Amino acid sequence: ASDEVAAVVATPTPTSAHFVFVPLMHHGHLIPAVDAALQLAAHGALASIVVTPSYATRLRPTVESSGLPVWLVELPLDLAGTDDVGRIPLDEEAAYLLTASRLRDPLERHLRAHAPPATCIVSDICHPWTAGLAAGLGVPRLSFLGMSAYCLMCLQTEHHAAAMHNAYAAMDPYWHLMPEDPVEVKMPTAAPGFLRLPSYEKLAYAVERACADVDGVVLNTFLELEPGTVVDCAEVRNVAVWAVGPVSLFHRHEHAAALAARGNVPALDADECMQWLDGKAPSSVVYVSFGSSIVHADPKQVVEIGLGLEASGHPFIWVVSSSPEKADQDTDHEVGRFLEELEARVAGRGLLIRGWSPQLLVLSHASVGGVVTHCGWNSMMEAVAAGLPMVTWPHLAHQFLNQTLAVHSMETGVGIGVEWSEEEEGVEVALVERWVVEEAVRSIMGGEDEAVERRRRATALARTAREAVREGGSAFINLRRLVKHYQAVMPEDASTWSPQI
Ligand code: UDP
Repeated sequence: ASDEVAAVVATPTPTSAHFVFVPLMHHGHLIPAVDAALQLAAHGALASIVVTPSYATRLRPTVESSGLPVWLVELPLDLAGTDDVGRIPLDEEAAYLLTASRLRDPLERHLRAHAPPATCIVSDICHPWTAGLAAGLGVPRLSFLGMSAYCLMCLQTEHHAAAMHNAYAAMDPYWHLMPEDPVEVKMPTAAPGFLRLPSYEKLAYAVERACADVDGVVLNTFLELEPGTVVDCAEVRNVAVWAVGPVSLFHRHEHAAALAARGNVPALDADECMQWLDGKAPSSVVYVSFGSSIVHADPKQVVEIGLGLEASGHPFIWVVSSSPEKADQDTDHEVGRFLEELEARVAGRGLLIRGWSPQLLVLSHASVGGVVTHCGWNSMMEAVAAGLPMVTWPHLAHQFLNQTLAVHSMETGVGIGVEWSEEEEGVEVALVERWVVEEAVRSIMGGEDEAVERRRRATALARTAREAVREGGSAFINLRRLVKHYQAVMPEDASTWSPQI
């Protein structure tokens, strides 16, 4: 169902814009950046993606199977003996992000030495050093943000008034989002979140300054999803905002292996997973996942989720991850045993994936009827594109904003009702008991009028999302305009140069 873009591939020319993506090498940032690069290339641009060698190896199948003029620029970056961000503990991450600025000089040298010349840098918000790179090369710089326009507005407000701490202040600029019935975004002051950890102070300051002087912002959202906010964002920030999502709709089903992996190795063979789903009734399976790595459930929570899913009676696929720092060996062993026993009890009805799941492929299978999500923006956009209602279970600050969108604006989400508890180490998400999980799953998967109505809205939203990326749609037009806007001036040797794929 997601082959709309492939049908309209535009051919690059010697004056094609060359977007150089500098993504943050975290799945949640890297995946949409790669998809956006592919989308732009499908619309006639050239694109490069700057990554370390280990990520280049992982991304090569996705990029090469596209057949588009997208190149991987491999630059080594050593952080404590690895170039794999996934192996770096969260509390050392800010240091890594600052270290990434070491890529600037080698990247500038590479871009100066290789054709085609860069016409625009597209940088993750967490790489403020790209402002100097773009200035050095004399090219514009865009921010690519894997977040909603609504979240971007809130960040802006936060910078000016620390408003995310104050529900009503945070909502002030967003009356249009829910004009009839503005809602309170409940988020404790100490909620861990984007750039809020103490170790992030230096980086947060650099990000804020670098954000202020971008030439534009590319968002993985679409105009129809949050029309007022996309427009307001541009006004408040005084930059061009290009809504080009859902970027995941780039992928075509004939590239199933790349689609399953998305730069990773699925823990379960994609065919096996599809066969399992083939045996289920349409819209009967609930998919439960809490993202790529950032959110790990407490071992006690793992047990409650498992028992809740079992009691719900619905078929499920559950991507299990438990927090290594919260589990000692005994607990690990206990949780392991619990999961094995659960698997035996729900054999045929419940499928557990321990590790990377072929999420995009799973969500587009007709047997999947709903998701339980941590409200990562990519997962939410993927659920929107697949027309699925969701149980929203946010853990970090920006995920609460995404929940607000799902529950109150799209009206396709049901909040699990996260509560917070004060712990010695700070505020923590309180345990959600099994019966709450059970009820939440029933509420999106069941046959009650409200559930049926929610599903109808989700299906309609998916249709709108597809229309946005289809020829003449809002994201399609934005992509074409973006490519045109940043195209190069005709090089003198235009007659001899042609893009190499
Ligand atoms: N993802 C996946 N398999 C997994 C976990 C995640 O394919 O087992 C993908 C998911 O489809 C999404 C991204 O990884 O594209 C996660 O991004 P999101 O913003 O949802 O959450 P984060 O991991 O950044 O918290």
